[in-house]
Amino acid sequence: MEKPSFTELKELYQKPSLGCGTGYYGKILLPQHTTTHVIKPITNYIPQKPRGFYHDKKGDLRYEDKPTILIKKNKYDFEENYTESEQLLNLNCDCWSCVKCRTHLKNKLFDNAIREVNYHHMANHMILTFPGQNFRSTFTYNESYTILSQEIHKLNRRITYAITKLKEKKAWPYQHEFLYDYGNTLPEYDYAYIRFTRSQNNPTENNPIGYCHDHIGTNYPFNIRWLNEVIQKNNMKIGYTFITENNNFLNYLQRDFLTDEEYVIPLHARHYNTSENVHLNPSQGFLNNDGSIVFSKTANFETIDKNLWQKHNQMLPFEEYIKQFYTVTLTKPQKILSGEYVNGELKKLLPEKKR
Ligand SMILES: [Zn+2]
Repeated sequence: MEKPSFTELKELYQKPSLGCGTGYYGKILLPQHTTTHVIKPITNYIPQKPRGFYHDKKGDLRYEDKPTILIKKNKYDFEENYTESEQLLNLNCDCWSCVKCRTHLKNKLFDNAIREVNYHHMANHMILTFPGQNFRSTFTYNESYTILSQEIHKLNRRITYAITKLKEKKAWPYQHEFLYDYGNTLPEYDYAYIRFTRSQNNPTENNPIGYCHDHIGTNYPFNIRWLNEVIQKNNMKIGYTFITENNNFLNYLQRDFLTDEEYVIPLHARHYNTSENVHLNPSQGFLNNDGSIVFSKTANFETIDKNLWQKHNQMLPFEEYIKQFYTVTLTKPQKILSGEYVNGELKKLLPEKKR
């Protein structure tokens, strides 16, 4: 099949998927449940010290090489007891390309990301891009996602390799130190990362529209020189490695994370990736949920009602019976009565004309 152009892909992302939320995917009976909801605003971050050359208080020129990451503790608030009552719902398609489902997925992903970032202290923000002009004239925007993903996978293996070297106190095979602040000493916690794959939507001459870039949050503050050394040595196709000006990952989550147009990525590409110790799945997750029951798209009200009673000794939510009553009544042909109406309400019935 012909790959869609980026413009066509964008159009696809503006529509709901066919059949989403109409019952095409079936129905689900969700029991009463409690969800975790993040209350915003969530963070207070402290701006960084200047980096590069700067003048100190005495007016001497100094060079600051280390980014400073300061996050206030206890800045997250969770509302834990958010209770939803029992509901019978049409299943959604749960696709990122569906405009209806994306809103839900993004919000859930945001909440989960905040929780995990907090838990693993993933304060550091890196942006990795597909390399410049040469590569962009050889590969399509579509290919850039597969290539960058493979290259970052390689980079992750180098990171794991470096961690093993340090843990086993083996000779350090690199010119540069591994981390800022820590140097070649490992932090006391395990490495964790979250990677969000996004598309370029503000094209410049050397940076055309649609190509991918990744926002990565990590709990290890990588030394950018070490990263560049590894990328060059292994000839990886990774364009920039930069630790952004707003080096705080939370800053990205709060500001640009929800920018919808950056979510337009090829259908084969994954929107997020994490290390094994991070749990981010934002999809409804109903199927394995406690007590939820899913019905096929062919199941009608009677089938569902009977099944629940016979197999689960349970009734549908009361509103469903009311809804059913109205649906049945309203689908019967209605006879329009002729008479006098005041504010839509029938006040006086006129006698039917004789034929
Ligand atoms: Zn959908």
